[in-house]
Amino acid sequence: MYNFQDIRQVHLEVTERCNAACPQCPRRIEGGMLNSRLTMAELSVADVERLLPGHFVRQLSKVYLCGNYGDPAAAADTLAILQYLRRESPELQLGVHSNGSVRNAAWWSELAGVIGSRGYARFAIDGLAESNAIYRRNTSWEKIMENVAAFIAAGGHAEWDYIVFAHNEHEVEEARQLSERLGFKAFQVKRTARFLNRQTLNAASPAAVRDRGGRQIATIEAPRNTKYRAPLATNLLAAAEKKLSYEDYLTSKTIRCKAQQNRSLYVSARGYLLPCCWLGAMLHNPDGDETRQFAALFPDLEKSGSIDGLKNKPNEIVVGDFFQRQISEKWPAGTANRLKVCARVCGE
Ligand code: SF4
Repeated sequence: MYNFQDIRQVHLEVTERCNAACPQCPRRIEGGMLNSRLTMAELSVADVERLLPGHFVRQLSKVYLCGNYGDPAAAADTLAILQYLRRESPELQLGVHSNGSVRNAAWWSELAGVIGSRGYARFAIDGLAESNAIYRRNTSWEKIMENVAAFIAAGGHAEWDYIVFAHNEHEVEEARQLSERLGFKAFQVKRTARFLNRQTLNAASPAAVRDRGGRQIATIEAPRNTKYRAPLATNLLAAAEKKLSYEDYLTSKTIRCKAQQNRSLYVSARGYLLPCCWLGAMLHNPDGDETRQFAALFPDLEKSGSIDGLKNKPNEIVVGDFFQRQISEKWPAGTANRLKVCARVCGE
């Protein structure tokens, strides 16, 4: 796969906890019942010192706190973890990705000081005052605005990520203007691929929204404007016109590993080391074809502890069989049990 010395970027998921209940996040089943595979795992600063020892941190150019399941602002040790990383490498780019509705202004102000001029906080805000919480359920617009203002006033470099849906596509330009008035340094339109229906080869299938009891209470939809649709939608449409199945579509792809290209590594809130967050998502996501295929490897990995960074050193894990053979041998076209997640995410 890649050499340990080549790794320059780490995606660190510090917690499986979050305040929100977004309908297309695997933390809850369509925003309702909690995913029973989660344990609310969370990394302490001592864990991170073990997972990312000083000599490793100093070879990196960037560490960003994001994740599949949790919001880094919800973790108890986030500031201490960032302080550790900054101490080890004053040059390191540090990033924090959050819905912005956790913690208070004082915490966000302190965060700006800890990150300093080399790094950013990226706020996931999918709409304006009336629409953001349609997807970012359980978040408070007032709280987000207070936290954003505190972070920017303390000198923080703030960026705004905006996922476009049918319910907020008319507000994109207004949100962009607001971001400029508030002092955000960047505004990114995100085109989601989460409306994928593998049976019908449709990347714009409406998605259910459920309450904590599992009852459907609403539906969310993909944006109507095709410029806001993920490239996957166009590709699937072309495949459907050729009468291909989803399996055929995946088989037609050549896998070029993004983790390898970006020289990056993912660390889960349980301390597992994997090439990327997409594989991390396969370990604890609700049941599905791709999840089952990758998760079938997991009992052996767990038993051997071979990807557990709290038991083994990161360099030992990366030179091990899982990184160097078990994943990449499942990439070539025609391989039995070819990894579907890799073909979907990194197929060209
Ligand atoms: S999904 Fe597979 S191919 Fe893509 S970055 Fe992850 S390991 Fe590499």
